[in-house]
Amino acid sequence: MALAQAAAEEARAAGEVPVGAVLVRGEEVIATGFNHPIGGHDPSAHAEMAALRAAAQAVENYRLPGCELYVTLEPCLMCAGAIMHARIARVVFGARDPKTGACGSVVDAFANPQLNHHTTVIGGVLENECGAALKSFFAERRRASREARAAARADVAGAPGSIEPGPAESL
Ligand SMILES: [Zn+2]
Repeated sequence: MALAQAAAEEARAAGEVPVGAVLVRGEEVIATGFNHPIGGHDPSAHAEMAALRAAAQAVENYRLPGCELYVTLEPCLMCAGAIMHARIARVVFGARDPKTGACGSVVDAFANPQLNHHTTVIGGVLENECGAALKSFFAERRRASREARAAARADVAGAPGSIEPGPAESL
């Protein structure tokens, strides 16, 4: 999970929501991935997808039986589907996601016996630490957004007679 947390910090450094994933087989790390949908212009560029793609390329097989996926945030429905397609043996996730979590928080894709898979799921591993990384990211983003709005208001106030609407008014 520490490696997944390090991958999450790579996402943060790139201005993306900090989620990281690591794919291992036994003691061997096959691939890591971090969340990058904004930079990648790709709605599927979640950390799990990045790790699954890199691992499948590395072993030249779209199926990854016997592998475990560690991810700092509960996988969404898309990632849960890809995890099943890849035949991942076990998923270990950190923070729960009350908005899009598909491992019990919103839906539990892995609990559906009609879906053909045998993936076991363990959630809440280093939950507080993984969650803190996300909370600090969103707190920082809200602070930056507040400062930008304040700066925009100051610009408008400092330009009397301007007929151009300031950025704050166009929001
Ligand atoms: Zn996802």
